[in-house]
Amino acid sequence: MEKRRITILGSTGSIGIQTLEIIKRHAGLFEAEVLTAHRNAALLIEQALAFQPNAVVIADESKYRDVSEALAAYPVKVYAGEAALAEVAAWNTADIVVSALVGFAGLRPTLAALRAGKTVALANKETLVTAGALIADVVAKQKGTVIPVDSEHSAIFQCLAGEHDEAVALYLTASGGPFLNTAAAEFANITKAQALKHPNWNMGAKVTIDSATMMNKGLEVIEAHWLFGISADKIKVVVHPQSIVHSMVQFIDGSVKAQLSLPDMKLPIQYALGFPQRLPLPDAALDFSTAMTLEFFPPDMQKFRCLPLAYEALQRGGNIPCAMNAANEAAVAAFLAEKITFPHIPDIVETVMQQIHYTAEPDFETIEQTHTEALQIASKNMEKIWR
Ligand code: NDP
Repeated sequence: MEKRRITILGSTGSIGIQTLEIIKRHAGLFEAEVLTAHRNAALLIEQALAFQPNAVVIADESKYRDVSEALAAYPVKVYAGEAALAEVAAWNTADIVVSALVGFAGLRPTLAALRAGKTVALANKETLVTAGALIADVVAKQKGTVIPVDSEHSAIFQCLAGEHDEAVALYLTASGGPFLNTAAAEFANITKAQALKHPNWNMGAKVTIDSATMMNKGLEVIEAHWLFGISADKIKVVVHPQSIVHSMVQFIDGSVKAQLSLPDMKLPIQYALGFPQRLPLPDAALDFSTAMTLEFFPPDMQKFRCLPLAYEALQRGGNIPCAMNAANEAAVAAFLAEKITFPHIPDIVETVMQQIHYTAEPDFETIEQTHTEALQIASKNMEKIWR
């Protein structure tokens, strides 16, 4: 394998940091091309000094001076602002763009990378949720490729490799999060600290709350639909508290293929960077010499209301998944700011999905308008709660 230059959009986040660990571990195979952060200038500077990329971008322009002064003595270009993210994402100096921003902010730069024909290792699931049809169209027309980084989708991608026939079902596994065994009646008392404590994964705050509400699985159902071109009725969610089976694919003869490993995001990230080559990763290997129990059961759709809302959004299509995503982003931010309760999150999502103006085939501008309109509807409804 020739050495690959990697741009990481969101290098200071959970996925970004783990991507840099892989680059460090396989320094002969990978090197950093561009690193980006939102506000965390200190970590971006530290990463730039350690990895000597061609350039860095700090999205928050007020931090530009800090970063440029700290790197003035080094051959690292420094840019600032949201627009610069989309520009560097399209540079032809990178072989792979890792899209590891969180939320809607990931859409524009990911789209720019794909329009430039790049291979995108996609962690930012919100890109496919908000603009799946647009992304599928760009991938079909340009030469850009998406390789999933989300562990469930990486598992499915790995299971589908080498298969000629279509899958009859995809089974997305879900840990169930910290409230798998909490009664619905207790949900109003859930604190931010409890929701941020995921039993199996250590991730960024937003995706951790999404896992606790199971909206994360809902977003992944929509992501799977666009990645693998499979209809919603063939995408099932299975609760699997051990997080060892990362997802499964069923074929016409009844065979089920699964991908198993310890829960470690470095595996799907490394698989995407090295694809189609597998590289060593001893940390993720399972040990079958000791007893192990794997459980599977259906999700409680009444308790975790975000999950059926996501299926509904996918079925209604158009700009509804984008509105659902924006409502969720606003509600999660308000929950993290301790302004609304845990069960308010699906309430807000449901209200926004009812009140948004429907568009059947949204273009990029309509997606942006929907996102803004949905945020406004969400905040108007949340004001009623905290007033
Ligand atoms: P984090 O919150 O840990 O990191 C997000 C990164 O994006 C940081 O570098 C942050 O910069 C940057 N960022 C945030 N907002 C903006 C913005 N408005 N403009 C520019 N940059 C921004 O997120 P995660 O790494 O946990 O998640 C990233 C994506 O991957 C999400 O879509 C998530 O759902 C998905 N994912 C994550 C997994 C995980 O294990 N963490 C697992 C599977 C999927 P700064 O540090 O400066 O704030």
